[in-house]
Amino acid sequence: MSDAPRLIAAAREAARHAHAPYSRFAVGAAVLLTDGSVVTGANFENASYGLSLCAETVAIATVSAQGRLREVVAVGVIGGAMDAEGRARGDQPVRPCGRCRQVLNEAAQMGGRDLAVHCAGAEGDAVASYRLSELLPDAFGPGDLGIS
Ligand SMILES: [Zn+2]
Repeated sequence: MSDAPRLIAAAREAARHAHAPYSRFAVGAAVLLTDGSVVTGANFENASYGLSLCAETVAIATVSAQGRLREVVAVGVIGGAMDAEGRARGDQPVRPCGRCRQVLNEAAQMGGRDLAVHCAGAEGDAVASYRLSELLPDAFGPGDLGIS
């Protein structure tokens, strides 16, 4: 069975804690590790806009801080514009930005896996699933710098 439903549910829960007062666009990410545990992240914006961090980057950095970067198997990503109550809305799948694809690739190459990436909206049943190699083909990564 696909890990997508579980990861999308966890990403939606994480998005509830997005700090996104500027974009008003909440994003959540949930990273599945080899032992079945899940680490989440939400976007973390800053008044100095360029310092903002995406949900996927927050989640992968947390995994790395736990010493588990090589254990990443899959990721779920959701997002949607926030309504007046701050709740994310919308059923269109949200895909990782270019920077996050590169961040995910660090975990993929360090772990020697082509990650599953499951994308959904803040609501609804639509899911778009990919392999990271589809989202970031011929990626530059640790191997290019002699790191394996
Ligand atoms: Zn991003």
